[in-house]
Amino acid sequence: MKNLQVKQAHTLNRPESTGLVLQPRLPACQAALPLDWYQDAFKPYAEEYLSLPDTQPETVLPWLDSYIKPAIDHFGEELLLLAHFYMGGEIVKLVENYGGAVADSYALALQARANPQAKIIVESAVHFMAETIAILAREDQSVWITNPKAGCTMEMMAKDWMVLPVVEAIVEQHDLLVISYMNTSGRLKALAGRTGGAVCTSSNAHLVVNWARQQGRRILFLPDQHLGRNTAWKLGMDLSAVHALPDPRSLPPDWKPDPTTLESAEMILWGGFCGVHTVFSAKQVTWWQEQGWTVLVHPESPLEVVQQADGSGSTAYLWKAIMNAPAGSRIAVGTEGHFVQNAREQAALRNVQIEHLADIPGQSGSAGCGCATMSRNDPPHLAGMLDLLRRGDAPTINKVEAGDIVDEETGSTTRLQPDAQKELKEQASCALEQMIAITERDMQT
Ligand code: SF4
Repeated sequence: MKNLQVKQAHTLNRPESTGLVLQPRLPACQAALPLDWYQDAFKPYAEEYLSLPDTQPETVLPWLDSYIKPAIDHFGEELLLLAHFYMGGEIVKLVENYGGAVADSYALALQARANPQAKIIVESAVHFMAETIAILAREDQSVWITNPKAGCTMEMMAKDWMVLPVVEAIVEQHDLLVISYMNTSGRLKALAGRTGGAVCTSSNAHLVVNWARQQGRRILFLPDQHLGRNTAWKLGMDLSAVHALPDPRSLPPDWKPDPTTLESAEMILWGGFCGVHTVFSAKQVTWWQEQGWTVLVHPESPLEVVQQADGSGSTAYLWKAIMNAPAGSRIAVGTEGHFVQNAREQAALRNVQIEHLADIPGQSGSAGCGCATMSRNDPPHLAGMLDLLRRGDAPTINKVEAGDIVDEETGSTTRLQPDAQKELKEQASCALEQMIAITERDMQT
């Protein structure tokens, strides 16, 4: 097998390599985006990319090299490339090939701090991840997203203008400690900070909820009801004291919860969810188990799926479990489709079989569902972003700052004034620091 590694940049404080390699003769991107999906500044790169004879690594890499290598040479160790595991097509492999790091949202959030030499951080993933990096970044570090239209549909179900009036109504009657899942805007992370709460990720939600319970306060968990419920179950909480609010898409603009219905709630769940992870059912889990397969799922899946599965955990947990599985293992994985596709290719090299949980042979449906919004980042976005940064021409719309509100349709951004931004950054940092402290304490025990 030919490893198409182009350049090994510095690896200081990076998450472990995924071990993924670009395979010769396999397409480097799953599908091209239509030209009118690109910002004007990115269209010339997209036009060149779309006119390449094919998207095999042998064709795409020399084209990418012509833009990315000069940027790497120009910025040196001041440049840090990042991507999330769920990125579509081969972009995670491309990012790693150019010396970047691929990680889950917890490890991504820590990258600005872990790499003080990095002054220009370029992220190929969704907006909330880039914003979190920006919240924890120092003044001399700037964060850029390759496509500002790459939002998260779960985050979109909990915009601050939807959540804040409900929270205000609840706190008139009840004290609240807010836990904001990483998949929220900086504005909701700041809300968590203001209530003395914390951020959590799928890898540490049980630690953060456990810590919050010890404070003896009523918890509001935002925005994923499934992760909240699964965490409560994992901690052995009484699920009748876990109260889910309605689907936020169905709420009238002036909706307020009846505070008496929350009287007995130890934890209130915002009613959001991830469409990618709610396609899974307990029946699918049972089907694979009956064929002798092990089933591992992400905890954004519904409770009955997690309860039936053989294991559940974050993307980092799933990746490790797959990569450490002994030869001959057969694992059906309930998470994002591109992740499963990459895991399948990589595990096959060690004679481990991987299937997507929803891909039941002979059944039609939602098989292999991927995160469509994250896939809005592609090779022309990566090449264009780095070339525009090198030339000093990067659009400000691609710069990510704390408190930005992004319109995922147009990519346009509403930015806070410096004073408001500073305040929000402090509040959101408090909630993130709380999460980091809780997680690190656990790692030391
Ligand atoms: S997989 Fe779901 S929760 Fe994750 S980024 Fe995509 S839409 Fe958001």
